[in-house]
Amino acid sequence: MVSEKMYAWGASPSVIRDLFEYGNKRKAEIGAENVYDFSIGNPSVEPPTKVREVIEELLRDTDGVTLHGYTSGPGDMGVRKSVCDYLNKTYGANLTPNLIYMTCGAAASLTISLRALCEEGDEFLTFAPFFPEYRVFTESVGGRFGAVACDEEFQPDIGELKHKINEHTKGVILNSPNNPSGAVVREERIAELCDLLRECSAKYGHPIVLIADEPYRELVYDDVKVPYLMNYYDDTIICYSYSKSLSLPGERIGYIAVSDKMTSAERVYLAVCGAGRSLGYVCAPSLMQRVIARCQGLTSDVSIYRENRDILTEALRSDGFSVVQPDGAFYLFMKSPEPSAGAFSEKAKEFELLLVPSDSFGVPGYVRISYCVSTDMIRRSLPAFKQLAESYNL
Ligand code: PLP
Repeated sequence: MVSEKMYAWGASPSVIRDLFEYGNKRKAEIGAENVYDFSIGNPSVEPPTKVREVIEELLRDTDGVTLHGYTSGPGDMGVRKSVCDYLNKTYGANLTPNLIYMTCGAAASLTISLRALCEEGDEFLTFAPFFPEYRVFTESVGGRFGAVACDEEFQPDIGELKHKINEHTKGVILNSPNNPSGAVVREERIAELCDLLRECSAKYGHPIVLIADEPYRELVYDDVKVPYLMNYYDDTIICYSYSKSLSLPGERIGYIAVSDKMTSAERVYLAVCGAGRSLGYVCAPSLMQRVIARCQGLTSDVSIYRENRDILTEALRSDGFSVVQPDGAFYLFMKSPEPSAGAFSEKAKEFELLLVPSDSFGVPGYVRISYCVSTDMIRRSLPAFKQLAESYNL
């Protein structure tokens, strides 16, 4: 009657969503101000004012037929040109608009890219901890999904990747800045990764594609640089989204950029167009395409996230918790003081703290704290974290 695979994904509980729902119930019971909800990654900082100004101008100055009509499948040519110009200017890339494909955000960018690349028997690897939807996206296009460990600082373990990579490996998904760890992969590690991918591509006789999932690219602190992967590895596809950089997650806008140096770049791009078509995306939202074309280079106020990170990291460390200070995104991955992250998350609920257990991110023994919340809530939550630490005698 239905696809068992789809049914299983629809029916399987999402730990994050369940915690979020629990939080809403609890807020109704004891008052929103008494619940410290760190469960979800919805940006808490307003989009730049220019975004609204551009929307208003577009509504005022553009006729509705043009503004709300279909664009071509890969996106409006003027929009693709402005994305391309920005990338070339900012990262020294050498892209043309015919390598840019506008999408409904990073989730669509990833699903389309995976579908474009995946043939029977192909495998895609990523590094744990990882965004849980990678498994769904990969398996939905018929690929096999696998994960490779990171070290204690959440940097990819290239030795383990070397061990796991095999003739079926078609691509490696790299997410930096990372959800859920907040880690930014350092340049030396990227160089090592790219050397290994070149070596294995030659060994197995086909390119192993680096799929860069970059919705948090601009959300970095203290002058940390996020290397632009096309400059390090030719067979790179960038999956980008404006969901986090411009605080527009509900508007569904992003793009895929296929490196001009990629093996058979034109064929890969056409496969991307075919994958988008086969998934029924038609085109990315027309109004939003035009908005982002005029907001290139803008970012929501990252200093708010940085302040949140600093307050939390300092307080959690002084409480006795073990945390690696994240360099980017708006997540903090904290070690659970007991082996079971689920049990720790349950314990935290007793203090009205909603922390996501790490198992669905592919590693045991941590919780994810989304600090894209108000700074006021963070300050008010600190006594609860202290009590939580005391309950473990930290
Ligand atoms: N990739 C990662 C690592 C994410 O954290 C998210 C969203 O949280 C996505 C992809 C999907 O983002 P989008 O809203 O642009 O589809």
